[in-house]
This record gives sequence, C-alpha cells and structure tokens, in this order.
Amino acid sequence: MRENWHERFAESPDVLKAAGRQQTVVPVLDMEIGGGEFITMAGPCSVETEFQLMATANHVRRAGARILRGGAFKPRSSPYAFQGLGIEGLKMMARARKECGLAIVTEVMSEDDVPLVAEYADILQIGSRSMDNYSLLEAAARSGRPILLKRGMVATIADLLRSAQCILDHGNPQVILCERGIRTFDATLRNTFDVAAIALLKQISHLPVIADPSHAAGHSDLVPALVRIAVAAGVDGVIVEVHPNPAKAWSDGGQSLDFAAFDEMMVGLDPYLALRNHGLPQREAAQIRSLVAVG
Ligand code: PEP
Ligand code: MN
Repeated sequence: MRENWHERFAESPDVLKAAGRQQTVVPVLDMEIGGGEFITMAGPCSVETEFQLMATANHVRRAGARILRGGAFKPRSSPYAFQGLGIEGLKMMARARKECGLAIVTEVMSEDDVPLVAEYADILQIGSRSMDNYSLLEAAARSGRPILLKRGMVATIADLLRSAQCILDHGNPQVILCERGIRTFDATLRNTFDVAAIALLKQISHLPVIADPSHAAGHSDLVPALVRIAVAAGVDGVIVEVHPNPAKAWSDGGQSLDFAAFDEMMVGLDPYLALRNHGLPQREAAQIRSLVAVG
C-alpha cells in the first residue's frame, strides 16, 4: 500500500509536491539551487582569520564550489567553546565574497541578529539547534533572504517539514532543506546520516534538498563517500567543511577536509554527477553505467 504523504504531513501542505506546483528554484547570484545544477557549498566551520577565510575561499572556488560557508555566530555543543567572531566574521565573509565572487551562506542564531546577518549573507542558515525556534524562523522568513534550513539533530522529517511550512507561511518561499545527520543509539560517529530522508524529501517535496556530510559523519575521511551517497540519493547540492589546516581549526577540525582532500573529493564526484545528468546522451550514460558496473 502506498503511504499517503499528504495525510501524513497534513500540517505542511505547501511544502509537498502537488498537481500544478512547480519545483522550487532558489536563485542566488548567477546560480539556481534546485534547478538541476549540482551546487557545492564549502568553507570553514567558523570564520577565524582573514588568511584562513581568503585561502579557503580562493581554493574552494577554483575546485568548483559556488557558495562559501563559514560561521560568524556559532552554536556550539558547549557554551564555553568558541562562539564565533560575530560582525568581524561577517565583514571577512563580505570581503571574500567580493574578492572571489562566491555567494555567502552563514548562520543566524537569534531573531535580533537577523537584519545584520541578512545584510551580509546571500543565504541565511538556520542551524540544527534552532530548527524549531519559530520566532527566529519568522524573523528570518521576513528578511526575504533564501533560507537554508538544517534538520534538527533530534527532529523527525515531519518536524523539518513543519518548520519549512512556517517559513513559507511568513511569506518566504525560498527554503532549502538540509539533512545533516540525526542522533541515534549508535554513537560511533557524530550522527547518523539519514539518506532515506533525502530520498523521501526529494520524492515528496518541491523544495531543494542538500546534504551536510561533515556534521553527519564527524570524520573528514568519511565525507567524500557520504557526498557520493547523497548525490545518488538525489540532492541538489552539498555543504562541506574545508579548512587550510584542520588540525588547527577552532571548531570541527576533525570533520573538515584539507585542500587536497577537497580537490580529490570534487574530482571523484564527476562520474557520479555525470550518471545522474539527465541531459547525457543515452549511449554515453549507458557506457558510464557499464564502466561503473565493471569498475
Ligand atoms: C555548522 O554548520 O557549522 C553547524 C553548527 O551545523 P549544525 O547546525 O548542523 O550543527
Ligand atoms: Mn561545524
């Protein structure tokens, strides 16, 4: 029996596919998220120094990233850990944007900070710890900026869709859903990467869906495999942590790729992206399929 997702997610009717409803495409600078192009967002967990940010921005751009990530306001597991550079971090992001032409995605944690962060960011990130902070969602929605909505670490798919609906209800249709791993009984890795959620969201929602393998895995050496899996599950893009010297990172170094690992990940992704490229001529696609099958 087929599940009736419209009944199951009755509180979030507008985020679901329906007759006559188009796929949501979020325009950011000269790109379209959800429009068929695979978008890579990359950068450090936290903005630390001018050098760290510029070096990373230049590097990830050359390797094919289109959007620079970097936290200026940081939600941390411990209140005693580094909380971000705040406005100084936003200014550094603005300089990187100007120099490299990358769009900026950065987190906003409080309702009061929305106008400030929206001045600098092309996309406002709502973090896992804030997914059900409805007053923040409302304020972020009203800013008119596209919103990258991360799934709460203990949020169900219904919870995520409800938060997306809340943003739509406040007049902002530009929502990008992000699977970033959830807490389960298995604490071997930082989180459990819920790829079934990605496949389901792509099936039932018209909103773009991206994956964050860095926070899902917590280990940089697993990130390339999780990115490939996310591509196979149908994501519109990924957001990945990259740092010039992960061992010295002020936050999340263990899950951050260094430049060489990021390059290798990007190059290794090409055949997987080609496979899902519907524009590929049948014969070429078939050849790639047989190569993958043999290899
Ligand atoms: C982040 O992107 O650095 C972050 C804190 O992510 P999350 O909210 O998914 O934990
Ligand atoms: Mn991080």
